[in-house]
Amino acid sequence: DMPKEDSLSAHSESAIGGAAARYNSALDMTLKALLNIKVLKEDLKNNTQRFQQVPSALQHFFNAFVSESIKTEGVYSCILSDLLSSLEEVISMSSDAAKVVVAILEFWCCWKNPEGESLVTRLFTLAENERMSCRKCRWITNYPEKSSYAIVMPADSIRQLKCAFESMKFVDILKVIRMEYQKSCNIKTGGCGESNFVHHFISRCPPVFTIVLEWEKSETEKEISETTKALDLELDISRLYVGLEPNTNYRLVSMVGCGEEEEHFCLAYENNRWVNLGRESLAGEDVSNWKSEVIFFGDFKVNLRQESLSGEDDGNWKSVVSFFGERKIRPEILFYEAVGSMA
Ligand SMILES: [Zn+2]
Repeated sequence: DMPKEDSLSAHSESAIGGAAARYNSALDMTLKALLNIKVLKEDLKNNTQRFQQVPSALQHFFNAFVSESIKTEGVYSCILSDLLSSLEEVISMSSDAAKVVVAILEFWCCWKNPEGESLVTRLFTLAENERMSCRKCRWITNYPEKSSYAIVMPADSIRQLKCAFESMKFVDILKVIRMEYQKSCNIKTGGCGESNFVHHFISRCPPVFTIVLEWEKSETEKEISETTKALDLELDISRLYVGLEPNTNYRLVSMVGCGEEEEHFCLAYENNRWVNLGRESLAGEDVSNWKSEVIFFGDFKVNLRQESLSGEDDGNWKSVVSFFGERKIRPEILFYEAVGSMA
């Protein structure tokens, strides 16, 4: 049964003191970013009868989300605090959003479809194969399949490439960075020892493609800005994986960023614009009229440049780039969703 909003609200009022002390912004913002993924939202809405498989804190969270009672602040902070207790051992006081994403997804893994497949596996798991074909002796080495929820990329390499090649697409920057990790043709198995590029394959394109950016944490405003400028709203992952159809496109739907004080932010693409999702509510920052020249992120005002409104359908993306740079927020998690699954 769906928990009634009254009982949740009553519960939340008694728990509000505790919830405030136990707040974890990495968990809060990561959940918000996840819940802005359309294919995940739809899976939740279509599988409510399967919520009984999951631990009760998660059941409450899913139920509240699909019934939309989660939009009430008290309910959300209560549910968040319950989830935090369930995840405490894994994330404790972690402020590392990448670890939090993994903790959440592993916690959600018990949630399965009628065929017994975990919905998390279906939506998020990236099963990558690597192959090296030696350019010198033509020896072929296949490496064991690796499963993960994301590809991890160093922010400084992204920035260096973007500064050197301004017009280079984000996906090609990722490709070049991956090409730098060469492997040697294994002498022990009959190879010649030559260093070679490794080709990547995936047998299945997950509906969600996640990229984690690793930062040094000492970057200046300018460096953060330069890195953020390298991000693209769309990615064609056939540039990264051999054998995929050209134009296997993914679109950026939400991001988690981390500020100077280790506080986290969630920026989500909703109704053709980017919004900053505030603490303890799932409603985006109320931008009264996004077509105006000025946009608000909380009390932070950004001038919207005219060119961001014309041509491409990129909403207020340029404001997002300034938002990250000027507030020194490092984008850490990027959730891209397959364009086909968004139709
Ligand atoms: Zn070789």
